[in-house]
Amino acid sequence: MGIYQRVVKLLPKQSCVLCLESAEFCVCKQCESGLTDTSNRCLSCATKLSSGLSFCGSCLSHAPNFSRAYTLYDYSDSCAQLIKKFKFDHQLCIGDYFAHQLFDLYTSIIGEKGDYNAIIPLPLSSKRLKERGYNQTHELLRIIAKNTNVLIDISSVKRIKATKPLSSLNLEERKVEIKGAFSAQPMNYSNVLLVDDIMTTGSSLNELAKTVLKAGVESCDVLTLARA
Ligand SMILES: [Zn+2]
Ligand SMILES: [Zn+2]
Repeated sequence: MGIYQRVVKLLPKQSCVLCLESAEFCVCKQCESGLTDTSNRCLSCATKLSSGLSFCGSCLSHAPNFSRAYTLYDYSDSCAQLIKKFKFDHQLCIGDYFAHQLFDLYTSIIGEKGDYNAIIPLPLSSKRLKERGYNQTHELLRIIAKNTNVLIDISSVKRIKATKPLSSLNLEERKVEIKGAFSAQPMNYSNVLLVDDIMTTGSSLNELAKTVLKAGVESCDVLTLARA
């Protein structure tokens, strides 16, 4: 037995952050199967749909600025609990777990659609950045950045307006609040992937999509950790 195996044998097994049972990683297999999302979703905005449909009514009447939306999870209770531990309790093992899961999903997306020219994480305001210390979406992209050649572009788009927390607002108020929040320098990408942690109404990502399309990007898709 080599030194590495001996050391590994000595280490206590982790416990699952959701149920506290022992686990290989920070989420045990059983909790992981509860997180796995197999819902039929709108091809355009990733909202849950009854089976057989491809688009939701709201995308049919008014398509978002992005072409397709992909989500890793549905925003279930246990998913919300995990995201909260990651974002507010700074449990980095969860960030690592999410980053691996997002990499797997990203690989299947590009397997189907081909590569993106760049990935653009939703930029935070400088106030929010100061509160949190860093943009956690960058942490989510860590394994994609490590294992692929895709450019993670964090400089072409800036947040120029600090917005109120959108969670307290309704859809119309969100749209007004987020309008003009981003500014982008000219970009000549043909396709980019916009990334955020949670998509609720999609107002922020839709505004970001509008901004990058105006800046010269031909088309964009969206990838989120969870879709509410
Ligand atoms: Zn568990
Ligand atoms: Zn839709």
